[in-house]
Amino acid sequence: MTVHTVWTKISRTTEPARSAPGPARPEGVAQVSTAYVDPVHALRRIAFLLERQLADSYRIKAYRNAAATLLPIDPAEVRRRATDGTLRDLPGIGAKTAAIVAECVAGEQPAYLLELEGSARPLVEGGEEYRARLRGDLHSHSDWSDGGSPLEEMAMTALELGHEYLVLTDHSPRLRVANGLSSARLVRQLEVVDAVNEHLGGGADGFRLLKGIEVDILEDGGLDQTDSMLARLDVVVASVHSKLAMDPGPMTRRMLAAVRHPRSNVLGHCTGRLVKGSRGIRKQSRFDAERVFAACAEEGVAVEINSRPERCDPPDDLVQLALDAGCLFSIDSDAHAPGQLDFLQYGAERAQRLGVPLDRIVTTWPRERLLEWASPGGAGG
Ligand SMILES: [Zn+2]
Ligand SMILES: [Zn+2]
Repeated sequence: MTVHTVWTKISRTTEPARSAPGPARPEGVAQVSTAYVDPVHALRRIAFLLERQLADSYRIKAYRNAAATLLPIDPAEVRRRATDGTLRDLPGIGAKTAAIVAECVAGEQPAYLLELEGSARPLVEGGEEYRARLRGDLHSHSDWSDGGSPLEEMAMTALELGHEYLVLTDHSPRLRVANGLSSARLVRQLEVVDAVNEHLGGGADGFRLLKGIEVDILEDGGLDQTDSMLARLDVVVASVHSKLAMDPGPMTRRMLAAVRHPRSNVLGHCTGRLVKGSRGIRKQSRFDAERVFAACAEEGVAVEINSRPERCDPPDDLVQLALDAGCLFSIDSDAHAPGQLDFLQYGAERAQRLGVPLDRIVTTWPRERLLEWASPGGAGG
């Protein structure tokens, strides 16, 4: 399916669900329900609500796949199949998703969706003021690397959340376990990002999907992408993903070299720690944080407050150290699924509680200011 088709179809699902009961009808007249709740909207919303609570990704995939199957199909055919009981002949539609579609077609909000909406809570108490000031997100992944959804879906969900921009930062080539993008694949991805933005036609004030990368910091501190490719991107997040337990001396030199690279904008999840979750616990990397943060402050590189609940990185004492060093910060979701874009709430709560001044958080800045900071004079295109 072309990007154009995807957007035309997905955009339709952002309209409010058409579930209004309609005007009162005269008694004694047979009624044919004309109410229609968009099944694609309902399935996407279910997936979103499950993703933000980090539910099992296999289970969520069923809702995303079903939505993707129905997206290009004419609503009249969906209705006919619901009546005929042939929804399950479609790829990606199982018993549970077929039942949800049938409820939609009957003009009802699916019971499961109502249940999820009813139990949905803020992810964390506090940080509301800071969350309201965040305009976008500098760190996210699509299924081009190790994310679970197409980049169009990530962009659409960011738009629905009220973001002014989302930076797509799929992984770099050497991170093979995460299906990192070669230069050639990144070139193709940039064309798709252009097509998505063109289709959005948001103009100067509208939402934009921005070009980025989460570039691996190699063992010698080099960045895992060519300088000419990095120059074409709006935002570069540099992160350590390998040899996290190396000695503090070499780790400090490694991080300093990455921070001093002229295209680095954000130092991603700087300690690499894991505090909970399915991947277990991982201790934080050891490095001379004072020197690394001093370099960040000098180079104008933002220290990321990574909002993923299992990362919660950097820890509070290092946020304080970076504050004292005069660093900038960026509050990022590091979302690997659309619903995880909502994780910004976690980072906002921490930044507010730890007293990070709003003006030092680059993700509170207007997009033009952010872009001028990240790639002065504009990305090479
Ligand atoms: Zn990472
Ligand atoms: Zn990431």
